[in-house]
Amino acid sequence: MEPHTHFIECRASLPRNMIENSMFEEEPDVVDLDKDSTAFPALEPDEVVYEPRSSRLLVRGLGENDLDDEEEDYESSARLLGMSFMNRSSTHNPSSSPYNRQAPPRSCSCSSARMLVVGVFILVLVASMAMALYFLPGCTFTKVGVCANSSTPMEPSYPNSTNGELFPWNELRLPASVRPVNYDLSLTPNLTSMTFTGRTVINMTILHDTKRIVLHSSELNITKATFQDKSVEVKVLEYKPWQQIAVSFPEDLKVGQVCVLTLDYAANLSHTYDGFYNSSYNDKTGAKRVLAATQFEPQAARKAFPCFDEPAFKATFLVRITREPGYITLSNMPQAKTTTLPSGLLEDEFEQTGVNMSTYLVAFIVANFTSITRNVSNTLVSVYSVPEKKEHTHYALDTASTLLHFYNTFFHIDYPLRKLDLVAIPDFLAGAMENWGLITFRETSLLVGNQSSPLDKQLIANVVAHELAHQWFGNLVTMRWWNDLWLNEGFATYWQYTSLMTEFPQLDLDNVFLGVRFKAMAKDCLNSSHPVSVSSQVTTPEQVSEMFDSVTYEKGASLLLMLKTTLPDGQFRKGLIKYLDNYRGSNTVTEDLWNSLTQVGQESVSDMMRTWTLQNGFPLVTVSRMGGHVTLTQEHFLLSADNATHTSNLWHIPVTYVNDSCSSAPSCRQIFTLRNKTATLNVSDSVKWLKFNYMNTGFYIVHYGDEGWATLIDALKTDINTLTPHDRASLIHNIFALSRLGRVSFRQVLNLLDYATSETETAPLTEALSQLSSVYRLLDKRQEQRLVARMKVYIWGHFGQLMDSQDWGEEESVSRQELRSVLLEMACSLGRQNCTDQATALYDQWTNSNQTKQIPGDLQRVVFSTAAQSDLRWLSLMEAYSSTTYDSEKRKILQALASTQDPQSIVWILSTGLEGGIIQTQELPLVISTMSDGFAGHLLVWEFVKENWDRIIEKFPVGSYPIQSIIKSTTSQFSTQTHLEEVQRFFSSLKERGSQMRSVQEALETIRLNQLWMDRNLPTLRIWL
Ligand SMILES: [Zn+2]
Repeated sequence: MEPHTHFIECRASLPRNMIENSMFEEEPDVVDLDKDSTAFPALEPDEVVYEPRSSRLLVRGLGENDLDDEEEDYESSARLLGMSFMNRSSTHNPSSSPYNRQAPPRSCSCSSARMLVVGVFILVLVASMAMALYFLPGCTFTKVGVCANSSTPMEPSYPNSTNGELFPWNELRLPASVRPVNYDLSLTPNLTSMTFTGRTVINMTILHDTKRIVLHSSELNITKATFQDKSVEVKVLEYKPWQQIAVSFPEDLKVGQVCVLTLDYAANLSHTYDGFYNSSYNDKTGAKRVLAATQFEPQAARKAFPCFDEPAFKATFLVRITREPGYITLSNMPQAKTTTLPSGLLEDEFEQTGVNMSTYLVAFIVANFTSITRNVSNTLVSVYSVPEKKEHTHYALDTASTLLHFYNTFFHIDYPLRKLDLVAIPDFLAGAMENWGLITFRETSLLVGNQSSPLDKQLIANVVAHELAHQWFGNLVTMRWWNDLWLNEGFATYWQYTSLMTEFPQLDLDNVFLGVRFKAMAKDCLNSSHPVSVSSQVTTPEQVSEMFDSVTYEKGASLLLMLKTTLPDGQFRKGLIKYLDNYRGSNTVTEDLWNSLTQVGQESVSDMMRTWTLQNGFPLVTVSRMGGHVTLTQEHFLLSADNATHTSNLWHIPVTYVNDSCSSAPSCRQIFTLRNKTATLNVSDSVKWLKFNYMNTGFYIVHYGDEGWATLIDALKTDINTLTPHDRASLIHNIFALSRLGRVSFRQVLNLLDYATSETETAPLTEALSQLSSVYRLLDKRQEQRLVARMKVYIWGHFGQLMDSQDWGEEESVSRQELRSVLLEMACSLGRQNCTDQATALYDQWTNSNQTKQIPGDLQRVVFSTAAQSDLRWLSLMEAYSSTTYDSEKRKILQALASTQDPQSIVWILSTGLEGGIIQTQELPLVISTMSDGFAGHLLVWEFVKENWDRIIEKFPVGSYPIQSIIKSTTSQFSTQTHLEEVQRFFSSLKERGSQMRSVQEALETIRLNQLWMDRNLPTLRIWL
């Protein structure tokens, strides 16, 4: 899934100010020794649940001797990682903070004597009931609920079903005793009443003797259930809080038995963005057209049909959909036949999937779309849209065709389906979703006119490349559970850049990928971050949703890049081909990936990569030099507001470096693996300087010490080209980060930036401006008016000339477009006359020519946003917004409208966006983030979010990417104690409506860090600006 479509645009305005709060201690990271890499839970007893973290089995009914205690857990992980977590475990106190995640209710939490008493009481109660029902005693052992010290096995307490009877299961995860083999789905949506009925026939095999079948169902009204023989009705119990249904049997279903469960049900089409949901748009005559589409990832397939809704329960699917004439239906597979029903409705039947597939990848659509198609190596590729946007689909078809060919060749495994549809849906929350064979997109992520700028096309190409990569990484090979989501998303993100850099070098993705690495670090340097492969609890829907974040996507991709550039030529690709081949059609954990990569090379990849995927954060490498001896020291780069948290985390760091005699060509790069806390590297005495982390392909930050920085700055001032643009950007990024950490003064930051007056390259300039703009916005929000004015003078002094020299005509190079849009957006937003005059003139030409005189695509946002600052032009923009059907332009107009400083307009946009209609609700996060950057907007928008929280989470689920984005944009520019307390108070009051989110911890950390940064740097800024 591509959760955010404005990732490129928002790069320059990303707040990079972070904090840490030792209150929010993460659970220590635990890794398990008993790896079981089989793809499907085939051999475990009925009472085995697959645990989210790695592949540790949680075995119900085990005695105390079979379990590690907590300390052993830590020790084994420390051994594996070659380091000690013991000091962390001793300070670990998960219950000390109101913001710690709560484990889901469990039967056997016996961490205190009081709990033990309660536990024994429940035990007795439940045991008697369980005996009566012939249920086995079941106690799930986890680190949060270890029963190791109890001499009696604990019994489960089963919850009550909706009808008052005991529900025969008490875990959020399904039992592994039953395995679905095939689903036969028949759906009859009614687009007038916005309801649907369905019949699901599930063929299953029994893996272990069991008296129950437990599966997922949410908001479905089960009207009839039969087992085996369709004349035998069975009773379905439902436990709504966990979205589960169950059928109990008096006798065991025997291992190996094949069963058929048939469920008839009815439901409403969802009015949110997940499940089987309804959507509408106005066609060119202004008439309202309705459609229905699906979005199941991560856990919403259960809202469309009862199913075993976990990624490891792969099965085949046969789908039938009934429709009215005038509509078409689409599903994962090609259509097999159409039957006219007695009612006059038509039933489309699709071929049964030839491959096993996770439920979250199933998809279907009923709409009146049209398409264009092309045959690419035996696959029919089609792009669908509403009829009036058909001419905007060509670029997507070209790009998808090229990339399909690229991936087929690169992975040595052909895309396995006969068709591949890419569909633009008018109402769609995520950027796109990789459903197998039926990829769904937001219109703005897929449709682009031929006249659009290369920068607009870059966005479309990115999303298409990401989703196509998923057809292998995610669809063909799927992570076993959401804790390893990075195996899907880290790869898709890595491939989106890598495939485009190869196939479409003109799109200039290497700069974007560099920005992505910086962005990942901005989140990962906080205490609230999480390991890429999460070993702590990922169970509740909120915890699963929260996995879709920058660490999973962007850090995941960054680590893959680092690994690729570290391994000998060809090993990365060979290893991945092996991985795909070994696990095609099944599920994996992270260790399976490392094993595949190790099998094709000499050295163990696991030893290095475990240090990167099982721990939070990343290292800071400090360099000190005495003649030819260069000492490297590593430590955890953790921003901390009170310096209270230290970790002993160590990484195996592939440290790369170049020196003054050979510094820019790839062949200059040397490599040294830093495994310990400290190591020494010898260089010739004649070496004047060293630059580490060549091209910033490593996921670490480097501190050169005062002298080291000074020699590098001198070198740059003497000859800017002595380092590659990416290395220059890397220095700028690192020095700002070090200043946040308190290791260098802001004066040193400014010293480095002095070289930038002669900088003309996109990567370093974008990084410098982005960093400066986040400082500027913080000062602005603090109403430090004098400093704001001086900061402007500073920016004009360093970059004013470059800003003024930008051309406002058509520009072909994407890199130049990126640069000028960043420069001009900053210039105009800070009110540089030359910029605002030009922008206004272009806007007036555009309106006076009835929008026929085009504004270059990369300049639209700056032109529209400048125009939106005048009341009259804001109104004309509003008109343009209502009339334009061209999506990428429409979105830029919306951002411009949202950048207004007029409180009434701000309030109107927010409420209209929440309502949906003129401004689609899917755009609300974008509107909020745009407004948060402006002075007038940022307070209003925070008030709005507080007041409308419940309505907002109705549309965007707690923990989801849009919610993460809303929290981040509304709070990340606060820097006062008052705001800290207010934010804390508000989120604490939410309880289960959001107080447990990681993004809340992140928000609080960020405000505290901003506070600290202000305290530390205001005096320096007053002197040095
Ligand atoms: Zn994705």
